[in-house]
Amino acid sequence: MSGIITVITGPMFSGKSKELARLLRRQAIAKRKVQIFKPAIDTRWDQDSLGTHDGSANLEGIPIFSVFSFRDILSCLVGDVNVVGIDEVQFLSDNFKGFDKEGVDIIQGLRDLAQRGINIFVTGLNQDFRGEPFSLMPRLLAEADEIIKLTAICNICGDEAHRTQRIIDGKPAGYNSPTVLVGAGFDSKKREYYEARCNKCHEVPGKK
Ligand SMILES: [Zn+2]
Repeated sequence: MSGIITVITGPMFSGKSKELARLLRRQAIAKRKVQIFKPAIDTRWDQDSLGTHDGSANLEGIPIFSVFSFRDILSCLVGDVNVVGIDEVQFLSDNFKGFDKEGVDIIQGLRDLAQRGINIFVTGLNQDFRGEPFSLMPRLLAEADEIIKLTAICNICGDEAHRTQRIIDGKPAGYNSPTVLVGAGFDSKKREYYEARCNKCHEVPGKK
C-alpha cells in the first residue's frame, strides 16, 4: 500500500511543530517505526525536542536527525521505517522547484518514499515575511495528499493570523530585506524578531 504525504503549514507561531509532534507520537504509539529530521540551519532544536517555542513537544525515544540535504535524510533512513517526519522542510531548499543544495528533487524524493509505503509528515512555512510563496512550499502543497493549515493569533488585533511579520529595529521589515526566517524571536538583542499578523495588520513597506 502506498503511503501519503501530509503537509502541515501556516505562519510562525501557529503550532506546526507541535502538531507534527502530536501526529508522530500517535504513529509511535501505533508501533510504527518513526524517524524525524530537521534541517541543520534551525538552531532552535536540541537533541530530543522539536523546535516549538515553549519546548513542550518532547519526542523521547524517537530519533531526531539533523540534516543538511535530502540525500542526508535518505542515508539516515533505516530499512524498516514506516513514518518519516521533517520539520521546517522549507529550509532544505531555496527555490520553487524544490531542489536541495545537491540538486536532488525533494518532492519527487518524498513521493518515492511514499510509493514504498512510508507515510510522510512535514511542516513548512507557506509564506515568507513578505507574504509571498516560500521555497518549495507552493509545489509541495500542490502535490500533498493531505494539508493541515494552521493559523496563529494576530499580535496587533487578535484576529486569525495567516502571516509572519518581520520586525527589524522596531519597524516592519522592508520588502527588499533578505529572507531569513530562523529561530523566531531569539535574537538576544531583539534587533530582529517575528510576530504573527492577520492579513490586515501585516505590513511590508515597499511591497507593490
Ligand atoms: Zn490583525
